[in-house]
Amino acid sequence: MHASKSEAVDGQTRTHVPLLVIGAGPYGLATAACAKHAGIEQVVVGKPMAFWRENMPAGMFLRSGSDWHLDAAEVNTFEAYLGERGIDPSEFDPIPVGLFLDYVDWFEEREDLRVVPDLVRNLSRPNGHFEATLDSGERVTADAVVAAPGISHFTVIPEWVERDLPPERWAHTCNLVDFEELRGKRVMIVGGRQSAFEWAALLADGDAGEIHVVYRHDTPRFTTSDWHFTDELIALTATVPGWFRHLPPKSAKPSPGGSGQRAG
Ligand SMILES: Cc1cc2nc3c(=O)[nH]c(=O)nc-3n(C[C@H](O)[C@H](O)[C@H](O)COP(=O)(O)OP(=O)(O)OC[C@H]3O[C@@H](n4cnc5c(N)ncnc54)[C@H](O)[C@@H]3O)c2cc1C
Repeated sequence: MHASKSEAVDGQTRTHVPLLVIGAGPYGLATAACAKHAGIEQVVVGKPMAFWRENMPAGMFLRSGSDWHLDAAEVNTFEAYLGERGIDPSEFDPIPVGLFLDYVDWFEEREDLRVVPDLVRNLSRPNGHFEATLDSGERVTADAVVAAPGISHFTVIPEWVERDLPPERWAHTCNLVDFEELRGKRVMIVGGRQSAFEWAALLADGDAGEIHVVYRHDTPRFTTSDWHFTDELIALTATVPGWFRHLPPKSAKPSPGGSGQRAG
């Protein structure tokens, strides 16, 4: 692998790195730190935690606990960050999203990650190397690429929503994160699981006039999250890379879930 280097070609900067990480969410930043620990030079292209900053309500609380963090080396953990700030984990349970974002800023600085706050517009492999063109026009060539562009590209909107509702009267929870415009309005939430009830509570805090939650299943019994089911999946990912690509077609398809809201 080559070391990182930059040069000007046709007035545009071109940088070569052994590893390009696309996306600066938790997975992109964690991957970059892990590569750095392994001595692999890398650059991350993405706006740090943009999905969390722009597609989650500022007043949201996390479902995950203080034991979830970004450092595979278990050094720059969320609990280490809290310890350095003199905060006992029990003071913040559940964890406000703003505190987690502050942890990620701290992590990025601690790991001294090289992050270019831009978007990859195009990725090709013209001559054995990957070549990424960024929105700014800058180019990055790389021997290897990790794509961690996140979940926002997989939003599912039921067909009837776009067909039957004017665009200004509905939103997906992924995009409705500021509740001010629904103050005093009647709101119907379609869907009845975590996001639906969480948004109902946030809308109530934001003084929506009426909130109706409509769903076709039993009312969920919300209990403290138990994430142990992920342990097996993570272990499987380490031993059988790409196992999820071989799931039967039905399990591999995204569920037609998501919550649409309608104000009236
Ligand atoms: C309402 C809600 C609550 C949640 N609560 C929790 C929780 O409590 N705890 C928890 O652990 N998880 C939670 N999650 C899940 C969490 O958001 C995801 O698991 C996590 O964000 C996935 O990380 P990621 O790095 O894969 O993706 P993302 O966080 O989505 O980051 C990917 C980034 O890549 C960027 N990107 C996309 N395309 C490009 C491109 N072409 N070039 C450059 N950058 C690009 C995106 O803008 C984005 O910033 C929640 C999700 C939602 C929607």
